[in-house]
Amino acid sequence: MSNFLPFSRPTIDEATIASVADVLRSGWITSGPKVQEFEKKLSKYFGGRPVRTFNSGTCTMEIALRIAGIGAGDEVITTPISWVATANVILEVGATPVFADIDPVTRNIDLDKVEAAITPRTKAIIPVYLAGKPVDMGRLYAIASQHKLRVVEDAAQAIGSTWKGKPIGSFGDFVSFSFQANKNITTSEGGCLVLNNAEEAALAEKYRLQGVTRSGWDGIEVDVLGGKFNMTDIAAAIGLGQFAQLNAITEQRRKLARHYFATLGKDFQAQTGAQLPPKDFENTNWHLFQIVLPERITRADFMARMKDRNIGVGYHYAPIHLFKLYRALGFKEGMFPVAERVGRQIVSLPMFYAMNEGDVERTCAAMREVLM
Ligand SMILES: *Cc1c(COP(=O)(O)O)cnc(C)c1O
Repeated sequence: MSNFLPFSRPTIDEATIASVADVLRSGWITSGPKVQEFEKKLSKYFGGRPVRTFNSGTCTMEIALRIAGIGAGDEVITTPISWVATANVILEVGATPVFADIDPVTRNIDLDKVEAAITPRTKAIIPVYLAGKPVDMGRLYAIASQHKLRVVEDAAQAIGSTWKGKPIGSFGDFVSFSFQANKNITTSEGGCLVLNNAEEAALAEKYRLQGVTRSGWDGIEVDVLGGKFNMTDIAAAIGLGQFAQLNAITEQRRKLARHYFATLGKDFQAQTGAQLPPKDFENTNWHLFQIVLPERITRADFMARMKDRNIGVGYHYAPIHLFKLYRALGFKEGMFPVAERVGRQIVSLPMFYAMNEGDVERTCAAMREVLM
């Protein structure tokens, strides 16, 4: 029987491994020249906007909310279908999470529902680009500007995605990316935040390291409460190696996604009742290839039967509002019916840079056996 095919796996090339070894031998292994070089490269890619790196994608969003001055008494609108980090950061700064249901086709936050959820206390929107698919960016920023709201884009999955030919992150308000191990490019753990100006970048640096401001060679002052969120040069060296491959990675993922559609064929949805993702080869970086299963099979059953066939399947994501922590805040079943249905039946098929078309075919064949 063939080898186990995981749903995701990072590819770190030998040049990157060598550059990490160089850092380890250099005598400087925390934040230093590699972090600066990585931030410079990212900033150039994001059209010259200021960029700061961090040790996770989660803390970048928390810091963006702090820079925006969002806290107790403020409402922040987000999607129930994301990694729980997206809503946790709202609680972390003392603000109130408000969920808006998702669009069943894109599986992203429904912007009509966002508009309906706006109150006088709303201060920000955190949209998530699930699987790397952006929301309608024109509409998002029209809503934000009409209601004077900040936007913290949870673009954790969207590096390499574009909108009207421009990279996600090269325009907009705060844009947060994750470099966690399964993301399209990784630093093992890490993230970056694209900011609007030098003032925000200086604040990001303060929140990143205990609220410290340095002046001269020995002067330090602390005037805000910061944390310990800096990226190391070890991580940045991995990031630099990965970033050099970004275009190749995005191209390969698009090729694999096209091959999924071609192999499954146009009758797959009608034959199985499974719902394929929108065919977006212009904007999406295909971080994930997700299908929504028909109700006649449980997600657990599907995952187990795929595993029997040596295929790994991921689950992204359980609806956030139904976790105990969020139920305790008053959220319950029935509040976001689309998210609840999609969140019950959504699965992520294998999709990663080192995969080949044969792996896609193997996955599709297994899926036909399980679903037909
Ligand atoms: C990965 C991810 C995060 C969190 O990023 P970390 O780097 O793991 O902190 C947040 N939101 C989404 C949508 C993600 O995929």
